Amino acid sequence: MRDMIAETVCVGTEILLGNIVNTNAAYLAGEYAKLGLLSYAQTVVGDNEERIMETVRTALTRSDLVVISGGLGPTQDDITKETVARLLGREMRLDEVSRKRIEAFFDKRGRKMTENNLRQAMIPLGARVLDNDNGTAPGILIELTPEESARFQKEKRGLQAVVLLPGPPEELTEMWEQKVVPYLQQRTGDVIYSAMVKVCGRSESEVAEILDDLIRQSGDVTVAPYAKTGEVHMRVTARAEDEKSAKKLVKPVVKEIKTRLGDSVYTTHEETTLEKAVVDLLLANGLTVTTVESCTGGLIAGRLINVQGVSEVYKSGFVTYSNKAKRKLAGVKKKTLDKYGAVSEQTAREMVNGATLFNRADVGVSVTGIAGPDGGTEEKPVGLVYIAVSVCGVVTVREYHFSGNRAKIRSHTVAAALDQMRRCILKYYSKLTFGKEE
Ligand code: ATP
Ligand code: MG
Repeated sequence: MRDMIAETVCVGTEILLGNIVNTNAAYLAGEYAKLGLLSYAQTVVGDNEERIMETVRTALTRSDLVVISGGLGPTQDDITKETVARLLGREMRLDEVSRKRIEAFFDKRGRKMTENNLRQAMIPLGARVLDNDNGTAPGILIELTPEESARFQKEKRGLQAVVLLPGPPEELTEMWEQKVVPYLQQRTGDVIYSAMVKVCGRSESEVAEILDDLIRQSGDVTVAPYAKTGEVHMRVTARAEDEKSAKKLVKPVVKEIKTRLGDSVYTTHEETTLEKAVVDLLLANGLTVTTVESCTGGLIAGRLINVQGVSEVYKSGFVTYSNKAKRKLAGVKKKTLDKYGAVSEQTAREMVNGATLFNRADVGVSVTGIAGPDGGTEEKPVGLVYIAVSVCGVVTVREYHFSGNRAKIRSHTVAAALDQMRRCILKYYSKLTFGKEE
């Protein structure tokens, strides 16, 4: 099948003013990638009839699927539906099923329906209604007739569709998943299967270089990298006649990525986060863990405690921001602080040793660094961070240099700490296995 081009138009003056963040566009972009749809543009437009019309017109000249978010509600500024109908030259009619659903929605809540709400049951002629299980405004799907398409496209491309979805993210995502995805899959007749490979401890450019040929290849399988803080996620997508064939295409590519990136790959499960990978390793090996944090101020503990079931492995930890706290809680020697300073390999080492001892944990992580913007010197610049990990008494300290503002340095530190923990546990346990084999 010819590649389908998808485009998002988000309607809302609130988005233009920066009052709300355009998460719908980000969500839809991710969904297109998952489905193997191409996407070359996305637009935000205010609640203005003329400009909405112009934006949708432009989108229809270059895309097969135009997804419009927002402006389906009952108020005067919600004009998306009427505007699209006018652009296509279609009349509006009252959809009885939608009217009943909206009435029932209000009845159930003991509220009275206003005349305004009936507007939401008005549907362009020939459109499909996408029921809204989370709100009142139904979504709409319009397949353009060849004559309608010809008004927008110089070259004939095939069936075009416009999808109108409500703005509230929980309504939009559910309608997309429940109603639009099945429509797209049925329309293409293909099954799209994708797998996720998550990598940490390597930069996006490093990963892109190592996988260059795989990312560039155009064929049945696509590899698309996404950079996250301290991580790179790779989506491997294939399209085929059935799920089995699509999986068969994806599998060797995932294997190849794992071979090239080695233990930098921490999971191939979509829902597994870096902190979950660490907690899973701890659980699998029956280890407890503790944290002692200076510049991250508890963020590492916070990430670990994101994971359900962490209480098996995490009992307590410290935030030791001042030198006094480093001495009192983690047992760092005054001599060490005087001689090497708070941000030093030696202090990181003593912090982790003290914390694992006092919290009686098998594994510990300590961080001490300069998050800035003040406090840097020529010798110890902003962004210098020491992370120490102890696994059953074996301590590994690493020095890092992060760039960016205070928030960025702190979040990079958290990702690096989790990665270092993961690698140290893996190393220690592969050594033990190796020992047994001998
Ligand atoms: P409603 O019936 O709630 O008015 P609607 O379809 O008319 O729904 P809008 O009025 O455009 O949608 O937006 C309603 C709310 O949905 C916004 O106030 C905002 O909180 C959220 N929203 C709208 N568009 C987006 C977007 N692109 N990204 C994230 N949130 C959005
Ligand atoms: Mg609205």
